[in-house]
Amino acid sequence: MNFEQVSGYKYRIPRTGKMRTDAVFYASEEILKDLAAENYASLRQICNVATLTGIVEPALTMPDIHWGYGFPIGGVAAFDPDEGGVVSPGGVGFDINCGVRLLTAPLGREDIARRSKELADALYGAVPSGVGSVRKDVRFGRKDLRQIMERGPEWLVGRGYGREEDLEYIESRGRLPDADPDHVSDRAYERGLKQLGTLGSGNHFLEVQYVDEIYDEEAAGAYGLSEGQVTVLIHTGSRGLGHQVCQEYVELFLEAAPEYGIELVDRQLAAAPIESPEGRAYLGAMSAAANFAFANRQLITHFTREAFESAGLGDGLRVLYDLAHNNAKFEEHGGRKVLVHRKGATRAFGPGNPEVPARYRSAGQPVLVPGDMGRYSFVLAGTEGSMRETFGSSAHGAGRKLSRKKAKKAAKGRNIIREMERLGILVRAASRATVDEEMSEAYKDAAGVVEATHAAGIGRKVARLRPLIVVKG
Ligand code: 5GP
Ligand code: MN
Ligand code: MN
Repeated sequence: MNFEQVSGYKYRIPRTGKMRTDAVFYASEEILKDLAAENYASLRQICNVATLTGIVEPALTMPDIHWGYGFPIGGVAAFDPDEGGVVSPGGVGFDINCGVRLLTAPLGREDIARRSKELADALYGAVPSGVGSVRKDVRFGRKDLRQIMERGPEWLVGRGYGREEDLEYIESRGRLPDADPDHVSDRAYERGLKQLGTLGSGNHFLEVQYVDEIYDEEAAGAYGLSEGQVTVLIHTGSRGLGHQVCQEYVELFLEAAPEYGIELVDRQLAAAPIESPEGRAYLGAMSAAANFAFANRQLITHFTREAFESAGLGDGLRVLYDLAHNNAKFEEHGGRKVLVHRKGATRAFGPGNPEVPARYRSAGQPVLVPGDMGRYSFVLAGTEGSMRETFGSSAHGAGRKLSRKKAKKAAKGRNIIREMERLGILVRAASRATVDEEMSEAYKDAAGVVEATHAAGIGRKVARLRPLIVVKG
């Protein structure tokens, strides 16, 4: 792999062969070692992305880069619709619009300590988790689902699931304008109907936390974060609905690509021109699934408020921000409209951007970086650097270190739930096997990713959050 260091944490892979642009990646010494250990498989993936039609210089990866389906996780690529630019389901991912929502509570750590068991049980009861989990207490019909796919959380708020002010603190107000439910199949509808308001399994979670360190007082103040304060982090996506959409369009695009003269160096990069019937159909279905994912996090917020209330902790949870990390959106960068794919990468708009809620505008958009269930997660802020260099994007997590199989092996003969309890963290999970696979050691240290992001100038550290209660699938 031929690359050169541009500056402290920034590297460039000059274009060779079929690449249409250079690729740029961000890494610390340690991340560089990890990349070498996997024989640069994920860097090769971003070089493959750089071969796609209409890509705008450069193809990028964030510091939490690792191998993914088609695009690497941490991959960011922008395409120009006027230059034959493409859209690729592999550049969005199977869990369309998966993301995180951070809530803040007018409570301190000690308030939770007094009620932690009640709260853990209430949350576990209020938010169904596990493989194929379904909600039985609220039933939506097909017409409702159509509204949800078109309008996202706004429709739910209108029906009493949340507050008007929640909407202001959701990326794009939780409504991607190109959504077209007519391009979503019956099978995807079916899967979505049962699963709205559920977490799902594996990496998805609901976590009660507290702020244990503030790095940037001004931004933390703007976001409403103070030391010792309680927060809730919700991580889930579009469930079976998004998965179904992705699968169907990958198949369709594999057939369509050659018809449009798109050469695929990797079948997983199946793509179609943005301005083609297939491309437009996918954008319609993907945006519909994205609105469903925003709505999913909205409904879970509603039931989280109920759980807090039933545990005697009030319902004063405020939405700090809801941020997606698997989608493709039209945005303006460098004076032109481009379709930015973010695959395991988050939007990170800098200070002054009109898309950032007024209250946060001078600090920059909140960037949420979950770590793992035993250590910590981080809040960052978007910067001028991210606007200039990464199409306004930043890292989205720590990333796995061990495969699920290896993690299971490392957990053998141990009781991870008990170990977590000794650390003062209560775990409620649908499956013990999931907890084993998801233990802290299975993930890289998020602090490393955050340091690299901060040092590279594509995100600014604001606060660190420590877990108290974890609900897992
Ligand atoms: P992804 O969407 O790529 O699967 O996951 C995003 C990130 O969430 C992962 O890279 C990992 O760092 C983080 N994560 C996974 N499980 C947990 C958890 O239980 N708690 C916290 N705080 N973070 C987690
Ligand atoms: Mn997901
Ligand atoms: Mn995710």
